[in-house]
Amino acid sequence: MQDFQLSLDTIFRRAEQFFPDKTVHTGGPAPTTTTYAEWAARTRRLGGVLDTLGISADGRVGTFAWNSGRHLELYFAAPCTGRVLHTLNIRLFPDQVVYIANHAEDEVIFVDRSLLGLFLPLLDRLPLVRHVVVMDDLPPGAAGVEIPADDRFHDYEQLLAAAEPVEFHVENENQAAAMCYTSGTTGNPKGVVYSHRSTWLHSIGVLTNAGLGLHETDTVMPVVPMFHANAWGLAHAAPMAGASLVFPGPDMSPQGILKLLTEQEVTLSAGVPTIWQGLLPLLDGVELPKLRRIPCGGSAVPLALSEAFRQKLGKPILQAWGMTETSPVATASHVPMRDQGLPEDDQAKLRARQGLPLPGVEVRIVEPGSTTPLPWNDEATGELQVRGPWIAAEYYRLDDDVRLNTEDGWMKTGDVAAIDQYGSVRLVDRTKDLVKSGGEWISSVELENLLMAHPAVKEAAVIGVPHPKWDERPLACVVLQEGETVTGEEILAYLEPLVAKWWLPDAVEFIEEVPKTSVGKFSKKDLRTRFAQYHLE
Ligand code: ADP
Repeated sequence: MQDFQLSLDTIFRRAEQFFPDKTVHTGGPAPTTTTYAEWAARTRRLGGVLDTLGISADGRVGTFAWNSGRHLELYFAAPCTGRVLHTLNIRLFPDQVVYIANHAEDEVIFVDRSLLGLFLPLLDRLPLVRHVVVMDDLPPGAAGVEIPADDRFHDYEQLLAAAEPVEFHVENENQAAAMCYTSGTTGNPKGVVYSHRSTWLHSIGVLTNAGLGLHETDTVMPVVPMFHANAWGLAHAAPMAGASLVFPGPDMSPQGILKLLTEQEVTLSAGVPTIWQGLLPLLDGVELPKLRRIPCGGSAVPLALSEAFRQKLGKPILQAWGMTETSPVATASHVPMRDQGLPEDDQAKLRARQGLPLPGVEVRIVEPGSTTPLPWNDEATGELQVRGPWIAAEYYRLDDDVRLNTEDGWMKTGDVAAIDQYGSVRLVDRTKDLVKSGGEWISSVELENLLMAHPAVKEAAVIGVPHPKWDERPLACVVLQEGETVTGEEILAYLEPLVAKWWLPDAVEFIEEVPKTSVGKFSKKDLRTRFAQYHLE
């Protein structure tokens, strides 16, 4: 066979040549629609812009931006000219953004005008950034933050208008194409570098029906940010499939998302559970007949959420599991043929699993600290480890001694899971979130799943709090639906028949809202800090 390079310029040319009339729509206050033909022409000129700005041959091209058509231009112009796209998470604390941009050595940062106010205070602390390119996403005439009169600042459209288109060619499939830092739910952000090859193969994995299953006939809306693990591969897989794309732009409100789902006739849309949870109250009486698939992951998808979607829209959520370190999509939870005759309730339980690995990915569970695999009987639980062509071997230039892989070549996920006889993964918890009670583990995920199935409960997060006798005991932090007045005792009485006695939380605290991380996951770290002094008898 030919030794053919799996590089992103091949995906780019596919969209350019085969699907020129497919569209890329960006929502928000200044909506735009382009075709792949226009997008491709602009992306080639953007390659020229990077040359004119003098960005090094393998320089890091930072973005500080919403999901948008321009962001998609950067997704290809940077890697297809040999540079490395580095998507900065706009919701991180300023210190973290500064740390990450300096660590990655970003030479230029492309910033949405609507985010300039957030970005400008950081610039003094980014000595390596030579250029800031502003992408004006405000409606004409809107008063935005002033662009400083500074040689480093440029206007995206002016640069593009003056640039020459370039030919794309990537020498080596193993060269870096993009990088992302983990959102830092646990510890300092760590960089993961994706190669052309890993991104290409991941895109194929996402395209397969065992993955997220994109077709040429789809209209795909990644609500998951393009800075959250490459929008889960959708910004590469959609052009590869020839599917049209819809981006929310700066309007991430549930109303804005529902408007786009409806008006743009979106068929496939992906986001973390909190996005879909936010949409739920708006769905009564709404019909979205075109929407056929709703991939969701980043944290466990509550069974009640998936079932609510099935009841309201006729389509359950498709759960997928992954990490920044796994590109990210590594497993997906399709109900297999053998179980499709099961009653809906049983199928719903299967959908609450993390599912089978994508073709190319392998999984195992081991006793923490060992490399001896545990049996696949859905009972034994151990650390989930994965390997495959889009699984990271190591972190980018890490100072401390964190080894991501075992000596026998498996990536340690830090997640605890069981695997059934057919290979379907069931995530028990993150190692750090397990409640360690009297030497045994209690799964916070499972308790949350049950709590969120209570009709009065909107959100629930379970954390371990110090206990004099048992080391840790579970505390349920519960947000009630508006107008509900359930007591803690009633919540516990509801849980009692559903879990082992020693799993029952010792207390229920009602809170206003579960704090969220920069990518919209429940932030247990914040809750643990808040309840660090919690007193249990
Ligand atoms: P961070 O660790 O900073 O949140 P990631 O976005 O890479 O950054 O998160 C990966 C983690 O998210 C996984 O290790 C796992 O704990 C959790 N996760 C992702 N998808 C799922 C899922 N479907 N079910 C349960 N947990 C999930």
